[in-house]
Amino acid sequence: MPEIGAAMPTYQYACTACTHEFEALQSFSDDSLTKCPECTGEIRKIYSAVGVVFKGSGFYKTDSVKKKTVSESTAAAPVAPVAPAPKAD
Ligand SMILES: [Zn+2]
Repeated sequence: MPEIGAAMPTYQYACTACTHEFEALQSFSDDSLTKCPECTGEIRKIYSAVGVVFKGSGFYKTDSVKKKTVSESTAAAPVAPVAPAPKAD
């Protein structure tokens, strides 16, 4: 495992030929991987930066990109407590 804080984002790849999925640790200057290690087929990048801590400000952890609308929808619907109805008898 790399040291925490090292600027080495983890990229998630999936092979388009055999559906093999794997992670690759690359620096920003490295070229993206293009071949599947299993079958040397073409791969595509799924997402990046799982748990990566970026040095400097202005970056967020990007592992929540898929649920970017959650905060908006939950904030728009406050749940009011339901008062119990008084007994009729
Ligand atoms: Zn493959």
